[in-house]
Amino acid sequence: MTAQIIDGKAFAATVRRQVADQVARLKSDHGITPGLAVVLVGEDPASQVYVRSKGKMTVEVGMNSYEHKLDADTSEADLLALIDRLNADPAVHGILVQLPLPGHLDEALVINAIDPAKDVDGFHISNVGLLATGQKAMVPCTPLGCLMMLRDHLGSLSGLDAVVVGRSNIVGKPMAQLLLRDSCTVTIAHSRTRDIQEVTRRADIVIAAVGRPEMITGDWIRPGATVIDVGINRIDAPEKGEGKTRLVGDCQFDSCAEVAGAITPVPGGVGPMTIACLLANTLTACCRANGLKEPEGLTA
Ligand code: NDP
Repeated sequence: MTAQIIDGKAFAATVRRQVADQVARLKSDHGITPGLAVVLVGEDPASQVYVRSKGKMTVEVGMNSYEHKLDADTSEADLLALIDRLNADPAVHGILVQLPLPGHLDEALVINAIDPAKDVDGFHISNVGLLATGQKAMVPCTPLGCLMMLRDHLGSLSGLDAVVVGRSNIVGKPMAQLLLRDSCTVTIAHSRTRDIQEVTRRADIVIAAVGRPEMITGDWIRPGATVIDVGINRIDAPEKGEGKTRLVGDCQFDSCAEVAGAITPVPGGVGPMTIACLLANTLTACCRANGLKEPEGLTA
């Protein structure tokens, strides 16, 4: 293996420490404690795990955590009424509605009911538009985490060729916008892209956000390129015993690491950065709400 490993776990811990320092300063200098409200509808096991770990880390950095757990059959009107109350609550600076929502709820309607200034997931249509037009937005957490790791590893991204594989609204598209904002030459590849390996092989930066286990192999990567693997896929791992599974990314780690200059592992790469960036976004939202200077290095 030749590639340097970009340790997302360690970097996320650093980001959380920076957030905690700023939270302590907000409390001591201004008597303000940032607050994050997380809304979970239903009992999806994976969502429950995410919500629990978000709540735990929110408290660990000194913020207030407000968890709202609603029954799976909660009506849209009741959910929207809760969002209205959170929008109006000055102690709540960030609101996150855990996705996916049960099928009878209109996700777009619910997300767009959140006050854009409190939309710490950055999914509100106003934030999408602000990001696309290069204005001050709340930026989706996963692409923000990728950007922070890239800046930390490469310094200036200006002029670099970046290929984002995947065009989803939550990862691929906002990632491409952020890279463009940092003056990369950006290509977005997807399931209809022709000669996709040729496209990725031209890139200084490859972001894999596909959701297909180990699809991208070393021969897709230009020697020395930086590879950010967003994918989280659970696959069977018979070598660990019957019925066992393991997590892999969208990149085949060993072959990509032979060629790349640097690569994020799965697990321990982008994943931990996503929650760290949620906390960073909540801090940013709190500073903006109170007319205070935004935290340096923790925003796009
Ligand atoms: P989506 O399923 O919404 O989007 C996947 C994208 O990949 C689509 O744009 C699709 O193209 C493209 N794609 C699918 N197959 C191919 C292919 N064979 N070749 C090229 N492109 C292809 O996924 P998400 O963006 O939500 O997530 C992507 C991955 O990132 C998943 O593994 C997910 O678990 C992970 N993830 C990780 C997070 C983290 O915190 N680390 C957070 C969010 C997601 P098309 O549009 O043409 O169908």
